Amino acid sequence: MRLILLGPPGAGKGTQAESLSATLGIPHISTGDMFREAVAAGTPLGREAKSYMDAGKLVPDEVTIGIVRERLDRPDARSGFVLDGFPRTVPQAEALDEILKDLSEKIDAVVCIDVPEDKLVRRLSRRRVCRGCGAIYHLETKPPGPDGRCTVCGGELYQRDDDTEETVRRRLEVYRLQTEPLIRYYEKRGLLRTVSGDKDIDSVNRDTLAALGRA
Ligand code: ADP
Ligand code: ADP
Ligand code: ZN
Repeated sequence: MRLILLGPPGAGKGTQAESLSATLGIPHISTGDMFREAVAAGTPLGREAKSYMDAGKLVPDEVTIGIVRERLDRPDARSGFVLDGFPRTVPQAEALDEILKDLSEKIDAVVCIDVPEDKLVRRLSRRRVCRGCGAIYHLETKPPGPDGRCTVCGGELYQRDDDTEETVRRRLEVYRLQTEPLIRYYEKRGLLRTVSGDKDIDSVNRDTLAALGRA
């Protein structure tokens, strides 16, 4: 199955992508994670991406499209994937259509996770991420272990540099202007399924699988 998860920052795309990846046996492809790994490794891509990420802006389309093209060409992605955080602009969606056409593949469904805007800031300000394995926590709704560490790998948790209130507001604005038009883009193509993300994590997971006909 070839899936896209759409939704504002903090909607739960990363959280749901992780469990869909495990349930459906397909790789989780997150452009945000790829950029953060490049930043941590200090590569030229990381140095370029960091200034945009810290400002809450999008990394330029040509850079982002390039890394996705390479990633989708890898053998593990050839029989399915869940894309999280890509595409985020109409040119990215058009480029994805072209990439998949070249591979003789196509998207099966786009799930849009819908969460009221006032909840997003609270979710993001309490998000913590594992430095070791990237697992996503929330201080209230998905708490870390009793030692304050990752329950999967024991790694240290950190707060993302772009999860400050000011940067979150900028990212929400960018979402509204540049990413929200994709809802219509995929609706027109008959691929869109909308799921309420304003429920607990397991309920959203069940509703998503139901929307995909996998419940
Ligand atoms: P979120 O939690 O908001 O969904 P991500 O981890 O997906 O955040 O993305 C973090 C940052 O990485 C974005 O604010 C942006 O700077 C950059 N980024 C991630 N995906 C893309 C993309 N598809 N196009 C451009 N920039 C991206
Ligand atoms: P995104 O990738 O869309 O930015 P995340 O999956 O990182 O979103 O989730 C944002 C924050 O909200 C994280 O701290 C996560 O643990 C928490 N979260 C995710 N889904 C839910 C949910 N359904 N209810 C409550 N908190 C959630
Ligand atoms: Zn971990």
